[in-house]
Amino acid sequence: RMMLVSAARAALRARRRQYAARDVLAAQRRSMTARDQFLAMLGHELRNPLGAITLAAQVMERKGGADARQLGVVQRQAAQLGRLVDDLLDVARVTSGKITLERRPLDLGELVTRSLEALEPVAAARPVAFAFRPPGEPLAVEGDPARLEQVVANLVRNAIKYTAPGGHVEVALARDGSDAVLVVRDDGIGIAPDHLAHVFDLFMQVPTTLDRSQGGLGLGLTVTRTLVAMHGGAITVESAGVGRGSTFTARLPLLPAGQEAPAAGAQRA
Ligand code: ADP
Repeated sequence: RMMLVSAARAALRARRRQYAARDVLAAQRRSMTARDQFLAMLGHELRNPLGAITLAAQVMERKGGADARQLGVVQRQAAQLGRLVDDLLDVARVTSGKITLERRPLDLGELVTRSLEALEPVAAARPVAFAFRPPGEPLAVEGDPARLEQVVANLVRNAIKYTAPGGHVEVALARDGSDAVLVVRDDGIGIAPDHLAHVFDLFMQVPTTLDRSQGGLGLGLTVTRTLVAMHGGAITVESAGVGRGSTFTARLPLLPAGQEAPAAGAQRA
């Protein structure tokens, strides 16, 4: 009888725990909805004044006469704010499932090369040494070019941001079986083992020793992971620990042979 009673009590406790977990999840979902609405609204509200600032800076640049250095500050900060606003809007779309891809066959090597060209000035400004190991072959994937460039940019910008001046950032792209594998490796501040599992979480920021002057809200990797997943891929992170660099690896399924994008100007048989 004693056994029965204690078993019944244990079952009751387990059921209570179950209810509790379910309540927490439901509450989380409710608060996420309110939060997402707020983020989306914030993003939209910030977009208009930001657009006006960017436009005014362009006009000032064209007219000449403005202090080039100050104008540069305005333009860089506006661009940074623009990325934050885009992230805010993306996060709202991601969590409400409203992101859509415009996929087409493309060569990932070309796309990564193009993305990295745009990031060279960012690496030079830190400065960190920047290297790219391209694949020795075309890697055809069916992807949304703008979204995949965003994935590359998010990973590489982070690698630069979380690496002190004088450090190294290396990007490699290669085939592994039926996947394309993009590796972004840095020898920067690294990630503590406890934090590794959480860097892709919304609003997750590891307390870092580097100053936070370059901003960020902990949104980028959440968006990045969702975009990779929407392409049928997956992303992982490794770090040997604080001060020992980080490696982000994104895998994307390749298009089966014969379904590649035709090379520019090539004839289809
Ligand atoms: P943030 O806007 O803060 O950069 P992300 O979502 O891009 O947001 O990244 C989340 C957190 O993961 C960062 O705040 C940082 O603590 C950590 N992180 C991301 N990339 C790296 C990296 N290459 N090296 C070390 N830490 C990183």
